[in-house]
Amino acid sequence: MFRKFHNSLIMSDDKQHFKVSKHKDYLYVIKENISVVHPAYRNDPLNMYLLLGTHTALLLDTGCGLYPLKPVVDELIGERNLLVFNTHAHWDHILGNEEFGEVYIHENEAYIISKPYDLSFLKDSPCEIVRKYEEKDFSIPPAEVINTLRDGDIFDLGGISVRIIHTPGHSPGSICLLTSTGELFTSDVAYYGDQFLPKRKSFPKVLITLSKLIELCEKQKDLELYPSHRKYPCDKTLLTDLYNGIKNIKNLWDTKKSFDFFYAWQIDDNKFRYYVSRM
Ligand SMILES: [Zn+2]
Repeated sequence: MFRKFHNSLIMSDDKQHFKVSKHKDYLYVIKENISVVHPAYRNDPLNMYLLLGTHTALLLDTGCGLYPLKPVVDELIGERNLLVFNTHAHWDHILGNEEFGEVYIHENEAYIISKPYDLSFLKDSPCEIVRKYEEKDFSIPPAEVINTLRDGDIFDLGGISVRIIHTPGHSPGSICLLTSTGELFTSDVAYYGDQFLPKRKSFPKVLITLSKLIELCEKQKDLELYPSHRKYPCDKTLLTDLYNGIKNIKNLWDTKKSFDFFYAWQIDDNKFRYYVSRM
């Protein structure tokens, strides 16, 4: 009886879980709240982007894998072919991969998404929805086919082309995407929200990546930035705010607190919260 009630509850949530909005004729945003799996994740919403070319559509990221995403995407793309990219291999960007069969990711992170993803770190979450992961034993199957991306790869969607920019720092295989129509999808490399950073000794990598993107925005003044979390579109200020914030962490180092769920040091300034990895 409880089971039946529980299922019907999930059915009704199902319809509302993704929020779809048409941002431009050729650009949809599919939003998913990730705090539903654990309150430590505060970067709601996760923005998945769907670009529509004349013959091919491109989906950026596949979300948390809690509810079927493919039916939502299929309805929007019509007869077009579909390409699915992961901006990087963090759980909230990849767990819907299995539904799509074939996905692309930067070559540095292909090994992570080629095997089942272990979500056992969510076992003790106070959120009831993780029971959906429990049904799969906290192990989420990968897509059948994994293709790799490299810096400079170009994909033609018909009327729009996208170029891959390798932007390591947030993770070793993070990518950004630059379109011929003036959008820069910044993935988790830059957004207004809690920042997940590598160890301090790897900060130079993060700063080099941000400088590269700032330079790109200086060359192409009208670029619009589309981050994978929270507010969009943003402009170059996001990149300079983050660059300056990360540079300043050394001055705030004594204010750090331990945040064990992420095994990180937590540091706050007036624009961002940073989690600096202790691993
Ligand atoms: Zn990430």
